[in-house]
Amino acid sequence: MTKEELLGKTEVFLFDLDGTLYLDETPIGSAIATLEALRKMGKRVVFLTNNSSRTEREYREKLCRIGFFSEGDLIYTSGMATVSYLKERYPGKRVYLAGTAALRREFEEEGILLTEDAPDVCVLAYDVELTFEKIRKFDSFLKDGAAFLATHPDDVCPTAGHPMPDVGSFLAMFCCSSGRKPDRIIGKPFTPMGEGVAKRTGTDRGRMCMVGDRMHTDIRFANNNGMMSVLVLSGETTRETMHSFPDRPDLVLGTVNELVSSLPSGGI
Ligand SMILES: [Mg+2]
Repeated sequence: MTKEELLGKTEVFLFDLDGTLYLDETPIGSAIATLEALRKMGKRVVFLTNNSSRTEREYREKLCRIGFFSEGDLIYTSGMATVSYLKERYPGKRVYLAGTAALRREFEEEGILLTEDAPDVCVLAYDVELTFEKIRKFDSFLKDGAAFLATHPDDVCPTAGHPMPDVGSFLAMFCCSSGRKPDRIIGKPFTPMGEGVAKRTGTDRGRMCMVGDRMHTDIRFANNNGMMSVLVLSGETTRETMHSFPDRPDLVLGTVNELVSSLPSGGI
């Protein structure tokens, strides 16, 4: 697909964050101006992240502070997609959430009934406040037969230093202790997050384009959900390593800035 065809077909651009729009909060080249140019072309901008340790409100503050967020944009996290999934598939059910205090507030504000006792559903989010007591309870509820959801599958979360253990690492632990694997994983590359963002924006998935730096999450997400995709080489993937994955993006660009050719592509 040519860039012109892709721009013509896309109504909503879904942007991954780290490695795609910024690196450790530093915008990649003229990424801020690139988003502005896309908005002027009538495209909707969605910031899509698997990181469920932060809420929509926290991401909005961060993206405003760095200069990315503009009125009319949407932030969509795997935590928000999980709320949508719970409302649809488990309406009124009692949920045990292993998640941060901020995420717990977000779930409760959305009307999810959280409990510390005998839940119908266990949800594992990226809980950077995890304690042994939470692990013990979660494991025990799984053994009692509660339904089991995870917000996303990432094994590690990138940082400036060593990558930190993420939900996938904790799933391995619960698999070891309880023999249970999640009944459903919500975030990229799976379909519940695609269904959720399509519903939230009211846009057909065929008119959406996922832009990201990871083949096994971002590009596979697009392919699993029937979306267009752009791989950017400003993060995890190189032109060499992209070929070791089964998925193929519609377009490969050095940085997100090449979506808008009148702007300088800027630093990778
Ligand atoms: Mg990324």
